[in-house]
Amino acid sequence: MTKSNQVIPVAKGDGIGPEIMDACLCILREAGARIEPRFVDIGKKVYLAGYTAGITEETWDILREYKVFYKAPITTPQRDGFKSLNVTIRKTLGLYANVRPAVSYHPFVPVNYPGMDVVVIRENEEDVYAGIEHQQTPEVVQCLKLVSRPGCERVVRYAFEYARAYGRKKITCMTKDNIMKLTDGLFHRVFDEIAPEYPEVESEHWIVDIGTAKLADTPTSFDVIVVPNLYGDIVSDMLGQMAGSVGIAPAANVGDDHAMFEAIHGSAPRHAGKGIANPSGLLLAGVMMLISIDQADVAERIHNAWLKTIEDRVWTYDLVRRVKAAGETKYTEVGTQEFAKAVVARLGQEPERLKSVRYSGKPIKIRRSQLTNVRDAKMQLDGVDVFIGNGKLSPDELGRKLEQLAEPKFRLIMITNRGQKVYPDGYPETFCTDHWRCRFQVPAGAPRPTHADLRWLLENIEQNNLEWIKLENLYLMNGKRAYTLGQGQ
Ligand code: NAD
Repeated sequence: MTKSNQVIPVAKGDGIGPEIMDACLCILREAGARIEPRFVDIGKKVYLAGYTAGITEETWDILREYKVFYKAPITTPQRDGFKSLNVTIRKTLGLYANVRPAVSYHPFVPVNYPGMDVVVIRENEEDVYAGIEHQQTPEVVQCLKLVSRPGCERVVRYAFEYARAYGRKKITCMTKDNIMKLTDGLFHRVFDEIAPEYPEVESEHWIVDIGTAKLADTPTSFDVIVVPNLYGDIVSDMLGQMAGSVGIAPAANVGDDHAMFEAIHGSAPRHAGKGIANPSGLLLAGVMMLISIDQADVAERIHNAWLKTIEDRVWTYDLVRRVKAAGETKYTEVGTQEFAKAVVARLGQEPERLKSVRYSGKPIKIRRSQLTNVRDAKMQLDGVDVFIGNGKLSPDELGRKLEQLAEPKFRLIMITNRGQKVYPDGYPETFCTDHWRCRFQVPAGAPRPTHADLRWLLENIEQNNLEWIKLENLYLMNGKRAYTLGQGQ
């Protein structure tokens, strides 16, 4: 190992992982990557040895020390009790941005959208992926969608910095803030706040449903897309498939101090050991890794050699299947290692028809996130939503009971069932479950409620033989209402 080589923790993973990682490391080595792999075990073997997140303390120490992680896909056991290793690594190391380029290689890889060149930047730590779920009543389960201002700021700023660094012209934000006004609304608001700091980058917002429809129809009118976690997961897989094969799509999971580079696909256990899997997604992730560790010259050599290989119609089975279906007959079908050899043989060459890449000469540095401090906001209690589990009472019976027991400190404002108001003035047609959200506020002119008042209310509820299953405090933040009024208002 020479002095300038950077130690990179490398996991060969499960299923097709070892085959494609060996192929990628061979290409990186032949291209002159100044790296020294430090192999770590993660995944199936480690899960089965009793580590519920599929990773040992020793490996955590190595990842912490060396910061950059090159990871092949792993197999996550389906049984309950095992945690997703990917989600754990992203959250533990603060990898808040998941960068997934989707490029069409027309006319060599048949796609419906020649010219597609989109980068999805997916928020990577929050949203429903907090994995906080509960069964609250016999009929109802819930999943918490958590969105934070720092979480939104970090990923949105990263997206703008990325666009600036790579000369991208436009960023599209997609949310569902017409329905989720606080959570998705915060993401959209932060996007609108940060966008003016980057006047050279055009910015726009789409509601995610119609935005995704437009993306599936006309991907060429998009450039960089920044989205909350769940939408990003869906949209980036869709684009990967539209680009020709999940086998060619890379992903970079990026934080301020750490990064993890991987293919977007999984361990494809059905194909393991056959030597046929496409190493391209993992290889292009390696290209992204080399750029991030200031080896843009090597990244450029590999990426251009890979483009030339695709252009020369040297393909693994997944692309062959696609081009065969399109009636193509001139191609060379190769296995994983032969594909690697084909790329190595083209190092130093550039594609003739596909656009070559240029990374060297301008190291890409993404600035660290500056976060707005909102922790000192003045919080004032403004009421409470008490959730009650009850499968026996009608909305009117429950409403009248709660009105009485809340007197004199509180007023029952409304009861909703799955978000729909059912008391007062509900409609008999509305289907009701056994899960009721009951909103209480103090009478007009009364002093603000205290936590002691909430305890008094809960005790009254208990004494009336009602089961409260959870409460959500209603707050004013700096004097502004910080809860929705319900029913999509
Ligand atoms: P998968 O992505 O592993 O495979 C789905 C199909 O895609 C395969 O059957 C194959 O036809 C094709 N495919 C995937 N990668 C390919 C490649 N490199 N070359 C050619 N064809 C390829 O999805 P799955 O079968 O749903 O998941 C298998 C396992 O992978 C599961 O245990 C899952 O939890 C895990 N997984 C891991 C990661 C990760 O480690 N990043 C990501 C997704 C899934």
